[in-house]
Amino acid sequence: MPEESGEHVSIFETANAQFDRAAQVIELDGEMQALLKSPFREMQVEIPLRRDNGALSLYRGYRVQFNGARGPFKGGIRYHQDVDMDEVRGLAALMTWKTALVNIPFGGGKGGVNVNVKELNRFENERLTRKFISRIGHILGPYRDIPAPDMNTNAQVMAWIMDEYSGRHGYSPAAVTGKPLALGGSAGREAATGRGVVMVFEEIARREGWDPKQMTAAVQGFGNVGSYASRFLSEIGIKVQAISDVSGAYFSQKGVDISRAWNHNARHGSLESFAEGDKISNEELLALKVDVLVPAALGGVLNKETAGRVKARIVLEAANAPVTEAGEKILEANGACLIPDILANAGGVTVSYFEWVQNIQQFTWDEDRVNSELGKIMNRTAAQVWELAKQRNVSMRTAAFMIAIERVAEAERLRGI
Ligand code: NAD
Repeated sequence: MPEESGEHVSIFETANAQFDRAAQVIELDGEMQALLKSPFREMQVEIPLRRDNGALSLYRGYRVQFNGARGPFKGGIRYHQDVDMDEVRGLAALMTWKTALVNIPFGGGKGGVNVNVKELNRFENERLTRKFISRIGHILGPYRDIPAPDMNTNAQVMAWIMDEYSGRHGYSPAAVTGKPLALGGSAGREAATGRGVVMVFEEIARREGWDPKQMTAAVQGFGNVGSYASRFLSEIGIKVQAISDVSGAYFSQKGVDISRAWNHNARHGSLESFAEGDKISNEELLALKVDVLVPAALGGVLNKETAGRVKARIVLEAANAPVTEAGEKILEANGACLIPDILANAGGVTVSYFEWVQNIQQFTWDEDRVNSELGKIMNRTAAQVWELAKQRNVSMRTAAFMIAIERVAEAERLRGI
């Protein structure tokens, strides 16, 4: 949970405040509000790991199943030293609203381990993952709870999860998504979140009359989401003037060559020593004079302290919860247009849904079909959110929550207490 001067930033509190605003507009009754804001099940486990040097490291693993009224819990697993129950709970709540918003038959969940993966080698990472899954595996399953990648986890980690789960339950590719293609992963899954971010942007741009070819952008984070978002933004003609990762930010007035950045990242494992343009700090990136700012790394980066320095008129939320409550008030007061996370980054879970469907049906789709089905869902949802926001004179975030909450509330009512 990031802390910053004067503002206590909890993703769960942020998600609840966003929920409350929308619940008020739709006049959701008090009982349902209480029910929908309370997590269904939370699990915390100890993960002992014998390191290769013989030392014992102890980690904590979390899985929160927030709401499953609309289907099995669905959500990524994050490896990060700052992970705690509150963060995982907040992210699980956001997954609930995200899956409902794009109308796929899942609930919301999330998991995490408080580990700095940079300290582990591949074999230690595998043992950690297997131990974590062995301890939470009884609450997972294709019709219970389906993990996926998030920060610092990837297709390889999903492969270990599938193997560990299948070892106990029989071959179960549908128990986890974001797997490698060779193990039942879906074509297009790796690119899906970044692709979805740009599909949503294009739909909103059409409606707002923005011309991408005249626009500039800065992208924070060059991992799965940020690297693909940068690539697709530049493909639609936006000049991406800055990119960044933990090593720092890289700015070029004439636009960063995204293919070169990809090659550098693939060769060196990070953007460190990327020799193009000027090296600036991640804080400076957030304050650049660009049209579109794309936070695609950590939560809470646009907050009470940093939001006032943002000059971009559009914030495209590729990361989960990148804007705090105080940050949002400042950005809105300054006239910025926020495209909310539960809409902007829903492409990943949408293609995870396609992967799950393909696994269950044992029938593989080609990439064109995946991308075209993804486009239908992202464009339709972006249009619905934009229209509702205009109709009710609310922010796109509130509109997105209104749609999502109505769907989850209806499922809860129909299923009964
Ligand atoms: P990732 O681990 O692949 O990449 C994270 C990137 O952020 C890396 O480039 C890393 O160097 C950078 N980073 C980390 N700390 C930073 C810092 N302090 N300043 C600047 N950059 C920093 O993670 P990802 O899967 O791309 O996830 C990024 C965000 O998108 C997260 O908020 C995640 O929850 C969200 N998200 C991911 C998916 C998905 O499918 N992977 C889907 C929806 C949302």
